[in-house]
Amino acid sequence: MKHYHYIFTGSGLAALMTVYEMVLSGKFEDKTILLLDENPKKTNDRTWCFWEEKKTFDAIVSQKWNSAYFKNQNFERPLDLKPYQYKLIKGLDFYTLVFDVISKQNNIHFAHQKVVDFEELGNHCVVKTEIESYTCNQIFNSIFNPEIVKRQTKYPFLHQHFIGWFIQSKEPVFHPNCATFMDFSIEQKGNTRFMYVLPTSETEALLEYTLFSKDLLQKEAYETEIKNYIQKLGITDYKIVEKEQGNIPMTCYPFWKHNTKNILNIGSAGGWTKASTGYTFKNTIKKSKDLVRFLSKENDLRKFHKTTKFWFYDLLLLDILNEKNYLGSSIFSAMFQKGNSTVIFKFLDEETSFWEDLQVIWKCPKGLFIKALFGRIFHR
Ligand SMILES: Cc1cc2nc3c(=O)[nH]c(=O)nc-3n(C[C@H](O)[C@H](O)[C@H](O)COP(=O)(O)OP(=O)(O)OC[C@H]3O[C@@H](n4cnc5c(N)ncnc54)[C@H](O)[C@@H]3O)c2cc1C
Repeated sequence: MKHYHYIFTGSGLAALMTVYEMVLSGKFEDKTILLLDENPKKTNDRTWCFWEEKKTFDAIVSQKWNSAYFKNQNFERPLDLKPYQYKLIKGLDFYTLVFDVISKQNNIHFAHQKVVDFEELGNHCVVKTEIESYTCNQIFNSIFNPEIVKRQTKYPFLHQHFIGWFIQSKEPVFHPNCATFMDFSIEQKGNTRFMYVLPTSETEALLEYTLFSKDLLQKEAYETEIKNYIQKLGITDYKIVEKEQGNIPMTCYPFWKHNTKNILNIGSAGGWTKASTGYTFKNTIKKSKDLVRFLSKENDLRKFHKTTKFWFYDLLLLDILNEKNYLGSSIFSAMFQKGNSTVIFKFLDEETSFWEDLQVIWKCPKGLFIKALFGRIFHR
């Protein structure tokens, strides 16, 4: 059985970002690393958007926006994103960048294999794939198992689920400098539903029909709504260039409780997805840097996780949306209608001071959050 220092079970965003950071740090050249994935990561299976001030991955950013609209049926507000820019990275460009770096490292290997089991056995771990078994000192697991969240009821489990179409229209209807972050003007049908629009030119955009809710829809339901929205934009002639779909977990479930001395859950499987929004990319940049710093000093992976006040804020929002899913539009609208957009994005990045938190929270319907707070304290 081949032995490695570290094995990554699952080699998507979190694993590749962590390995990339390991290489950049120059501190892991003496460690043997194996990346395992059932998918060769050679297709553009997703697009990532995130806002940032820095230029972390600008070499592979394919589009940037300086402002973004927030809309509902009563108002629309262009949000000045300064000092941030909203950026888009194609999944394939990221995979190619990282695999290119990895291919130059003698100590890092990738195997296209499906993991069927892994466990910690005393001071080492065993990973079994469909065709081979390996041993290692430590495992970083990003294979998400929804069953562990479904098995409990203490923490709500919602999904950010969507289908997106990249379209090319005959009519010039889009504003290429301005993304539409959330458009709640569409029918809510008892849920939190919005359109997300990422224009890349006056005639091209990615349109995503998105829900934050418990239950997924039939494919036709998302696509009918995208068609309705296209019609509402005044587009009569268009071509679908590409499609994508996603189902991102939104939960405050304490994934870190499954971490052991030698197994760390990372990515969505480790709770790196922002529970209230589904955004993961930016958090993964930060967490992977933290993890690489942590590994150069510490060995016990149970010590990596730190719970913050933002986890609790997210929990209250999810409690509300879990019970009354139709309230999403009014909560996000209250926050974005008059709030300072820069502070809101900083808050969503979990970088605000308590005083700044209050500026954002104060705009939200207070009664709902106070009720959710009491619900958490006295009933759960
Ligand atoms: C279409 C889509 C669009 C998204 N857009 C955004 C966005 O704009 N902004 C944002 O912040 N987040 C976005 N997300 C959410 C999040 O960033 C991604 O889901 C991200 O890829 C999560 O990273 P991860 O490493 O946890 O999981 P993944 O990147 O999914 O990596 C997990 C890996 O495990 C592999 N795997 C699973 N089971 C096995 C097995 N048994 N054996 C071996 N390998 C296995 C998978 O093939 C996969 O490569 C999006 C997600 C999707 C699906």
